[in-house]
Amino acid sequence: MPTLSELYKLDGRVAIVTGGSRGLGLEMAEGLAEAGASLMLCARRDEWLTPTVAGMRRRGYTVEGAICDVSRPVDVQTVVDRTIASFGKVDILVNNAGVTWAAEPEDMPLEKWQKVVDVNLTGAFLFSQAAGRDMLRRQWGRIINIASIAGMHSSVQGPHYAAYAATKAGLIGFTRELAVSWARKGIRVNAIAPGYFHSRLADGAIALNEASIKASSPIPRVGDAGELKGVAVFLAADASNYITGQTIVVDGGRTIA
Ligand code: NAP
Repeated sequence: MPTLSELYKLDGRVAIVTGGSRGLGLEMAEGLAEAGASLMLCARRDEWLTPTVAGMRRRGYTVEGAICDVSRPVDVQTVVDRTIASFGKVDILVNNAGVTWAAEPEDMPLEKWQKVVDVNLTGAFLFSQAAGRDMLRRQWGRIINIASIAGMHSSVQGPHYAAYAATKAGLIGFTRELAVSWARKGIRVNAIAPGYFHSRLADGAIALNEASIKASSPIPRVGDAGELKGVAVFLAADASNYITGQTIVVDGGRTIA
């Protein structure tokens, strides 16, 4: 039987983390690197990506960065090709890039709805397809989709961001379907549904909702830095080898209360 440290090692593994330049993606990327994986981080904007890659390299990790919009098929294929050219393969894919648009459903412009769908849902599909083809060739892969508790429950206090909730619920169904499609081909597919964590994306909603988050969550606070990366490493590593198609909720119990 493997030892516990063997079950959590990612030495020799290669991971792509979309939206790895900051926020939750960066935290999970750090976890994968600390467990031994080489990384390809991608995001649209250099202003966060380049300093992040430089900072991780200074800490001794093997990291590349690529500018990419996950909703553009050409960009996605280029990142996968670059990863294979640099590291020889793609073992782990974290579909983390995500956006939202803060509008009530009745005021939501169609192009903003479309953008949220294109990035959050179509981007995860495009990356899974492109990276999945390499994983299928080698019959080994781990895909982790970053959903949200917004895809599992709603609150009368909001935020009522219908496009965001729809894409995150969609990612949970996508995770199940991809998992059954590829389970017998060596690829496991799981999702993480975070509750509220401080980030550029979430800070506006946290400012509006912190009192209600505290009042309605069994663990009465937003998530702390470091409370996601262990979950990402668990799902990427052999420790979770008998788990596929699942969504792990990391929300202080908010959705069960
Ligand atoms: P964030 O700080 O805004 O980070 C988003 C990341 O995605 C950035 O690296 C951003 O870089 C990248 N990105 C956005 N659009 C992209 C695109 N079209 N192509 C490539 N990269 C793109 O937000 P976060 O809170 O860390 O969010 C990360 C994920 O966690 C999202 O999927 C979000 O829905 C999910 N989540 C967050 C929370 C929370 O409370 N923070 C809760 C549940 C789920 P650029 O802007 O440079 O592209």
